[in-house]
Amino acid sequence: MDVPLLDLTTQYAAIRDEVLAAVTDVLEGQLVCNGPAVRTFEAQVAQYCNAAHALGVSSGTDALLVTLMALGIGADKPACRTGGACDGAEEVITPAFTFFGTAGSIWRAGAKPVFVDIDPETFNLDPRAVAAAITDRTRAILPVHLYGQMCEMDALGETAQRHELPVIEDAAQAVGAEHAGRRAGSLGTAACLSFYPTKNLGAMGDAGMVLTQDADLAERCAVLRNHGQSRQYIHDWVGGNFRMDSIQAAALSVKLRQLDAWTDARRANAAAYNERLAGVDEVTVPVERADRRHIYHQYVIRAARRDELRAFLTDRGIASGVYYPLGLHLQACFAGLGYREGDLPETERACREVLALPVHPELRPEQLDHVAESIKAFYAR
Ligand SMILES: *Cc1c(COP(=O)(O)O)cnc(C)c1O
Repeated sequence: MDVPLLDLTTQYAAIRDEVLAAVTDVLEGQLVCNGPAVRTFEAQVAQYCNAAHALGVSSGTDALLVTLMALGIGADKPACRTGGACDGAEEVITPAFTFFGTAGSIWRAGAKPVFVDIDPETFNLDPRAVAAAITDRTRAILPVHLYGQMCEMDALGETAQRHELPVIEDAAQAVGAEHAGRRAGSLGTAACLSFYPTKNLGAMGDAGMVLTQDADLAERCAVLRNHGQSRQYIHDWVGGNFRMDSIQAAALSVKLRQLDAWTDARRANAAAYNERLAGVDEVTVPVERADRRHIYHQYVIRAARRDELRAFLTDRGIASGVYYPLGLHLQACFAGLGYREGDLPETERACREVLALPVHPELRPEQLDHVAESIKAFYAR
């Protein structure tokens, strides 16, 4: 039995007519870049995430870049060059155990990513490590709600407040996640969403969003996403082309209506895995903190002999993923920052041990059984 990591074809088949109708509407109107469909979708996401302002942009990565630019982070300092040491640059504290776009955006803004270690239970930023990494050059804290579970936002918020620093939530994997009833995207100075097709709310291509409660920051992001143009052909700042396509917004509005049902299905799959894998000593199932709503963008176990297990599952038709195999602090492009193996022990251990299992909403019970039984069979050999 084949078990894919995602099943977007099945998902699309269920909403095909609605998506095609919405996309056709946009095409009939021909306002295809940053048009009315984008305004509608922004209002819907602002409400869904409990944020005052939402700005559609071209990707999650661009959402991060625009936010950093709008906050002026990295702007006054010489931009970091590839492989360079970033000496004297403004610093942004962030995890090394995340998708590349998080730190890549910090770098592209001209600031220096300062990598701190993670909490081994949740894989999220360790708030004590963040507090310890603050210097007089720190300009922001950029936590990532990894796999769909929110970070310790209270502790991070206290540190940020004490040092008067903005918090930028990388919520690319966490749309709809909650911390004590508060939605991802509503707690930081700003938050960034990704609608890359494989995300829980995925577009038909690339798209992203900036969320914020701050009207001035929202206005700056809106201008920066369109070449810093405040009025037509009048440029007070240098921005970029970070606009969202209207057909993406139209398709996303259709999909947003399904998101809670999909999240419930992911959570039910996670609960079923937790139950079935409970007796397997070689496997540690994910921890959902009591005050969180984990949306299981990924269901990630720690597994003994991870690579062997993965090969065994592949032989049985089961896809799995390793997010992420190499910490960003050890990537060649950041060599100039001077990190060495051993600097972030929990990040490096996670890179060796994590394995993401299929948890998508379209996963059928017999597929889930096949995954769980195969893991048991591997360790029983
Ligand atoms: C997907 C992702 C991004 C980047 O989003 P894109 O839309 O692919 O540019 C950034 N951060 C994290 C944590 C992500 O998972």
